[in-house]
Amino acid sequence: MSEAALKVLKEVFGHAGFRGAQADIVQHVASGGDALVLMPTGGGKSLCYQVPALLRSGTAVVVSPLIALMQDQVAAMTQLGVRAAFLNSTLDLDQVREVERSLLDGTLDLLYVAPERLNTPRCLDLLSHIRPALFAIDEAHCVAQWGHDFRPEYLQLSVLHERFPDVPRIALTATADPATRDEIIDRLALHDARVFVSSFDRPNIRYTIVDKDDARKQLLRFIRTEHPEDAGIVYCLSRKKVDETAEWLVAQGLKALPYHAGMDAATRAAHQARFQREEGLIVVATIAFGMGIDKPDVRFVAHLDLPRSIEGYYQETGRAGRDGGAADAWMAYGLADVVQQRRFIDQSEGSEAFRRISGSKLDALLGLCETAQCRRVHLLAYFGEEGVPCGNCDNCLNPPETWDASVASQKALSAIYRTGQRFGAGHLIDVLRGKDGERIRQWAHDQLSVYGIGKAEDEHHWRSVFRQLVALGLARVDHESYGALVLTEAARPVLRGERTVMMRRIPERVREAARRARS
Ligand code: ADP
Ligand code: ZN
Repeated sequence: MSEAALKVLKEVFGHAGFRGAQADIVQHVASGGDALVLMPTGGGKSLCYQVPALLRSGTAVVVSPLIALMQDQVAAMTQLGVRAAFLNSTLDLDQVREVERSLLDGTLDLLYVAPERLNTPRCLDLLSHIRPALFAIDEAHCVAQWGHDFRPEYLQLSVLHERFPDVPRIALTATADPATRDEIIDRLALHDARVFVSSFDRPNIRYTIVDKDDARKQLLRFIRTEHPEDAGIVYCLSRKKVDETAEWLVAQGLKALPYHAGMDAATRAAHQARFQREEGLIVVATIAFGMGIDKPDVRFVAHLDLPRSIEGYYQETGRAGRDGGAADAWMAYGLADVVQQRRFIDQSEGSEAFRRISGSKLDALLGLCETAQCRRVHLLAYFGEEGVPCGNCDNCLNPPETWDASVASQKALSAIYRTGQRFGAGHLIDVLRGKDGERIRQWAHDQLSVYGIGKAEDEHHWRSVFRQLVALGLARVDHESYGALVLTEAARPVLRGERTVMMRRIPERVREAARRARS
């Protein structure tokens, strides 16, 4: 059987050999077993069901929520000579009938179906007239109710097991935290499935997270020193910032193009094609850029804004170094990013539970940003994997010192408290440093006991303290008032002097670079 699988891999897909767990997975599913595949994005999940689809008789049914990608997938399969089609809401009735006819005629190898379509009596009835080769459930984490991609239609996919107990099922996802894994197994009734967990480690990526000062200049310095001629992706949160940053990089003499959903489709496609084809091009993009890019030699991925979660960060940085060569994941992060992301969460339409989960995902990401530990170890631990310090991330290469920040924390927390928990870090720092100004006088903050008690330290120092207070959960950014810092319950023992707070010291080298970037 593995002979046959290899033959299909070579002759149909044109690949020389399987990668990682692919061979085992293909073997297992082709011989009729159920499987749950946890593999990072870009790991090669598709072949895990496409090859068995061709090895088993009948049509393989692939459930996918990504309707927008189905047409591309079918086109790509057709080009390889695989007989593929899709059923989703973009087809008119005649087209649906045609696909249904080929299915009944047994002339399809692969059928992609949207979950809401599959759950209809019409579709289930249709499937009962054929003998499906297998069911592949892509993006299986969509079944996890508290996940950020939850799709109610996915819950009904357990019907597949009831209606077609003898047809093997393979569920695939790039979300590997243990809670999601268990939920997938439960809700899809995959208790007998073999679980294939691929490592999420990307050893050739060097992770660096810097303290944001003047992000654009920091970025330029990073590109000029580390990747002067290389292809890379720069992620920004807003379309406006994408346009501005791309323009600015071009003005600095770099080859850069913007990409975001607000641009017309033709321009977008043209920019993507140029990125794919040309060497040394930088694309400045929102997260709309990513799906379907398959450029192996992206040498760096830079974030000028904070992603929403560790999953997002991992997925976006994962686009670097697919060829296995050394690559950089570089991010600049500051408290303003946290404030902004919080605001998105608080203003989102989602349920209370959704907001709570989004909040804790953001906190997990802040933990990664502020850790003094190996970034890779921290990242892998989040995905339920153990690792040893990598020797290749910023923290391993330049271990951050930690310092006893208990007194500084007391000062900063007192400043929050004394000013009525209504101000952002910028104003609080002015108070601590005893700055004079209209705003200070207007609120009579120069009359407070905390006024000027942080004079000995510079603004940079205090910014880092406030950021870490948030990351440590001692203060949080408030919902309603615009980015005001408020105390949490955990701040009490610190204020009473009952708890020590250790923080990472921003290395002098980094401060120096920040000062230079500013000037
Ligand atoms: P995922 O769905 O896990 O994100 P894909 O299935 O899209 O990943 O595969 C990512 C890329 O890796 C694709 O371009 C695919 O052609 C390539 N790929 C996957 N498996 C192999 C292999 N065994 N040999 C060569 N290329 C592969
Ligand atoms: Zn490390």
